[in-house]
Amino acid sequence: MTSIRPTARPAGVPAADPAAKAALGWMHTARFLTTAAQLHHLPRLDLPEIAFVGRSNAGKSTCINTLAQQKQLAFASKKPGRTQHINLFSLGRQNGTDAILADLPGYGYAAVPQQDKIRWQRVMGQYLVNRENLTGVVLLCDPRLGLTELDELLLELIRPRVEEGLKFLLLLTKADKLTKVEAAKAMQIARLNAGGGDAQLFSALKRKGVDETALRLRGWVDEAAPAFAEAAARRADSVDTEASDEQPPPTDH
Ligand code: GDP
Repeated sequence: MTSIRPTARPAGVPAADPAAKAALGWMHTARFLTTAAQLHHLPRLDLPEIAFVGRSNAGKSTCINTLAQQKQLAFASKKPGRTQHINLFSLGRQNGTDAILADLPGYGYAAVPQQDKIRWQRVMGQYLVNRENLTGVVLLCDPRLGLTELDELLLELIRPRVEEGLKFLLLLTKADKLTKVEAAKAMQIARLNAGGGDAQLFSALKRKGVDETALRLRGWVDEAAPAFAEAAARRADSVDTEASDEQPPPTDH
């Protein structure tokens, strides 16, 4: 595997604008939270969650590491025993976590036994349909290969949620491998495939689309934050009411 240094900013690439800098600073806070093989093993969290999905080798780990400006973060998801797990990372300052990044295992890897593939597709399907705090999905796709059958299935699966407001981004990875004409064509197709969502060219190697993607994810979290805060306040209220409704324990006279 060729390794791409996630922190490299090639000469000639202008420094990020202040908002992009802040968004990248936020992404840099990413740290491992937990890992789970089944949906019900994941903690219930009252924070916006953004899932990264894609076929194996699409460039997902490199993309996450580039956005987080960390060399090894998402490769933790490739450690033996974790490849079939959903790995969660916290975002935001220590004690100030404000979002979750979920790294879902790459699918479609030929060498994976059939029964593991089926089990994994079930877990991923359940996650995408049922995860309550899921706020956005980033689907990574190598535009030279286009969407695979599993990518299409995934799109179908989340379509109802996208229509209800789930954010969606189709990220075209390894864009440095495309000519300008190919890139424009790939974006045209991707916009159609993305339905109500967005499409973006991305290259970890050339640092293309990095600032834009960080800004977009920050925007998703900012937009979702008030609803999460309201829900948390409502829950706190109902806990208070329940507590004040409780009868005092009987006293012996
Ligand atoms: P994953 O299986 O989806 O996590 O994919 P990886 O992040 O491991 O990347 C798969 C392969 O694509 C590796 O050989 C990477 O070095 C390569 N790759 C990832 N991103 C880029 C990129 O932006 N440009 C190029 N040229 N190669 C990339």
